[in-house]
Amino acid sequence: MHDLNPHENQPAGSGAPEAAHSIVAGKEIQGTGRTLDISNPATGGIAGTLCEAGADVVADAVRAARQAFDRTDWPRWSVPRRQALLLAVRDKIVEHADELARLECLALGVPLRELKSRHMMRAAENFRFFAEFIGQARGDLYDQTPGYRSIVTREPVGVAALIAPWNAPVALASMKLAAALAFGNTCVLKPSEQTPFALHLFVRLLHEAGVPDGVVNLVNGRGDVTGAALVAQDGVDLISFTGGTGTGRLIMAEAGRRLVPCTMELGGKSANIVFASADRDRALDAALASIYSNNGQQCLAGSRIFVDRAIADDFISDFVDRARNIRIGDPNDAETELGPLASAAHRDRVLRFAHTAPQDGVEILTGGGVPAGLPDEISGGYYIDPIAALAPGNANVVCQQEIFGPFATFQIFDSYDEVVTAANATEFGLVSYVWSDHLPTVERAVRDLRSGVVWVNTTMTRELRAPFGGFKSSGVGREGGEACERFYTEPKTVTVPSAPIEPRRMGVRP
Ligand code: NAD
Repeated sequence: MHDLNPHENQPAGSGAPEAAHSIVAGKEIQGTGRTLDISNPATGGIAGTLCEAGADVVADAVRAARQAFDRTDWPRWSVPRRQALLLAVRDKIVEHADELARLECLALGVPLRELKSRHMMRAAENFRFFAEFIGQARGDLYDQTPGYRSIVTREPVGVAALIAPWNAPVALASMKLAAALAFGNTCVLKPSEQTPFALHLFVRLLHEAGVPDGVVNLVNGRGDVTGAALVAQDGVDLISFTGGTGTGRLIMAEAGRRLVPCTMELGGKSANIVFASADRDRALDAALASIYSNNGQQCLAGSRIFVDRAIADDFISDFVDRARNIRIGDPNDAETELGPLASAAHRDRVLRFAHTAPQDGVEILTGGGVPAGLPDEISGGYYIDPIAALAPGNANVVCQQEIFGPFATFQIFDSYDEVVTAANATEFGLVSYVWSDHLPTVERAVRDLRSGVVWVNTTMTRELRAPFGGFKSSGVGREGGEACERFYTEPKTVTVPSAPIEPRRMGVRP
């Protein structure tokens, strides 16, 4: 165990192996569990190690969070003081954006440029947003009952377990951290075991910005070890989870046993519908970005592309030409558009879908192999050629299962009813994309599509004030300004009479 000192970190590009520990009550903990190797997807080599937190370290982390919530003034910090802290965190993120992006890239393989300009700026914006949001908060007053006023205050709930996936570690965990802290909770963060490095630095930076010891604790390790131990802790009051639908079901069952509220941001298989009335060139650019950005590994990917038969031939053939042109390579290279998949096992899984799909009548239009001619230094990395496929129908496996890679399926439609029925015929309902300049068509589709978000003539535009989350198996609850306020606070109703009351006088005999 030793004190935190962010300056001990290796300088960017030093090439020294990284080591991710847990952080409990402001101290680095080596961990009592196993040491795991973390791979570098760009090269197939070892990027560093993770010291796994066993159940004992997890219990200490929850105790530290409990102590900070129950025994310090943190939950009662004034709004201006809390705002100043959130803005100090924002500044730290901006100041260290290069190093955070480098560490994220090391374990994730998403192009460095994308990590810096999108993920780290998004993390900084999450903290700025919640600083501003809590300055605008207002409460409710009820005075309809004559002679009484009831006001509703909101109080922090307590200790939040924050569990994050590997596909956008800092961008996604920072939303949970910013919201939990803005509303006065304490927390224990569990990143994905595949991508611990950037969030390790992130938690150190939170302390450097002035977050008191014990308010944010970090436990690193595998889901079925460290994650399972965290959700089973009695001291946890809230669980905010982002990850796969199967894991979400397990965690919510455990939370149900103890009646712990959860938000679940889960998987997706989102429809991207291109009507003949669309601005075709914009729809084409957006269709490529919606499926292939972030190396194709995003919950909100527009992975099922439905194209109106009237424009389908040209649209699909132009899409395939562009997919073949995508620059695949080292994620550290500024020119790279598509880096490696996050692990060898994940690459093999995505390729298996491409190899078995033709047996079900799916035509692979492009991709599905390993790119030729990669430089020697990265030839062991987990690269694939982006895939586009034409599916005979929506029931096909590649139209139903979340592949979570650069794998686009096309389906051609003839009518509005046909496409909306197919778009909704999925267990998921995270987002939908609609491309059309015909207002009545847009209005109908917005009404009929069963998803938590509908993006019309745009792609992946996140409005932090509005709720984000999924219908059906894509989630339970929402993230975003007011949705987070409702989740991370408990309402308390305080009723006061405006004049002395005459209580019923029990036990007085006439
Ligand atoms: P995952 O479910 O395997 O893991 C997510 C996190 O849960 C990791 O930290 C993991 O260690 C932990 N975990 C695993 N088993 C656990 C258990 N039994 N108890 C407690 N914690 C456990 O998901 P992943 O592979 O890391 O991420 C990909 C998935 O996340 C995809 O399905 C994707 O759609 C989804 N996702 C959803 C959103 C959204 O906002 N809806 C955003 C990003 C990713």
